[in-house]
Amino acid sequence: MKLATKLIHAGIEPDPSTGAIMTPIYQTSTYVQAAPGKNKGYEYARSQNPTRKVLEEACAAIENGKYGLCFSSGVAATDAVIKLLQQGDEVITCNDLYGGTYRLFTRVFEKFGIKFHYANLQNLLNLQSLINDRTKLIWIETPTNPLMNIIDIAGVTAMAKRKNILVCVDNTFASPYLQNPIDLGADIVMHSATKYLGGHSDVIQGCLITNDADLRERLYFLQKSCGAVPGPQDCFLVLRGLKTLHVRMERHCENGEKVARFLCRHKKVGKVYWCGFEDHPGYEIARKQMRGFGGMMSFELKDENPEAAMRVLSSTKIFSLAESLGGVESLINHPATMTHASIPREERLKNGLSDSLIRLSVGIEDIDDLLEDLQQAIG
Ligand SMILES: *Cc1c(COP(=O)(O)O)cnc(C)c1O
Repeated sequence: MKLATKLIHAGIEPDPSTGAIMTPIYQTSTYVQAAPGKNKGYEYARSQNPTRKVLEEACAAIENGKYGLCFSSGVAATDAVIKLLQQGDEVITCNDLYGGTYRLFTRVFEKFGIKFHYANLQNLLNLQSLINDRTKLIWIETPTNPLMNIIDIAGVTAMAKRKNILVCVDNTFASPYLQNPIDLGADIVMHSATKYLGGHSDVIQGCLITNDADLRERLYFLQKSCGAVPGPQDCFLVLRGLKTLHVRMERHCENGEKVARFLCRHKKVGKVYWCGFEDHPGYEIARKQMRGFGGMMSFELKDENPEAAMRVLSSTKIFSLAESLGGVESLINHPATMTHASIPREERLKNGLSDSLIRLSVGIEDIDDLLEDLQQAIG
């Protein structure tokens, strides 16, 4: 089955008791048993819920994986992956990470004795030099947030396989419409379903996908033991969002390209970070591992005074100033004080994330209105 069909049908059967075509919201905490242990596979809703189960099957299918697991947020999904590790284990990750992931690694898990190495993984030699016997996991984001750097997923997984190291790819930015890390050898794919999968800025959720039955069992154990499960209403919203992912993504890509090229031509705009430019250092790899370039980008003004960026950030009318991304509406964000404020300034600057960087999540509104809005805001 092709993606567009899977998005609409995978995991979904008419409800057995009524024939309802849409998956019901099973708003229940427990299930009645005929006799102790004699049940229909449902005992307690932290462990099993039919609405969640359908969504988990759909998530697995669209990432070309066998197993899906949904969590109450993207961060909760990340948390479960790190809990596969033990004290003394080491993780190698990229130096351009979602701020909340960085905070979870540095402020929560480091104190439990897990060591994280942050490196520029666009260059795989940096990865090679950090691998040792304690390395148990490589965690990557590509394209990275917010600088749109590209990491060669197949290159990373090939290196990891030789050493038996797990690879988890945060595929939130690309979405399964643009990129499928499992096909490139990743062990686990993580999504903040809050973003493109849900797509309507009305739900917080995360998911993990894997092809490995043993990993699935260990992650399921963590899901029910730690308890960060999504409610059935939220699962319903993500299921509803998924059905139009391909149509939305097509427009996100189309509008994204037009906005990126507009910014590039604008006389007041400096550097534009978008992986669809032919002179982007990751362009060739992006073309190889992605089917398009999406609607995310960042840019700097030629005027490096952060005040100039602040003026643009508060002048847009259609682009709303807000954290998050991947919804139908266009958002504008200031990573240094918003999404990436949890990364120390010095770290941020070292990795190229300046105080005047502006990030856009280009939505699916009419492109003429979006360009006009940016034009009046940038001046
Ligand atoms: C938002 C986001 C997360 C965290 O997900 P939540 O649903 O907000 O917990 C992780 N990674 C990336 C790339 C994100 O954009």
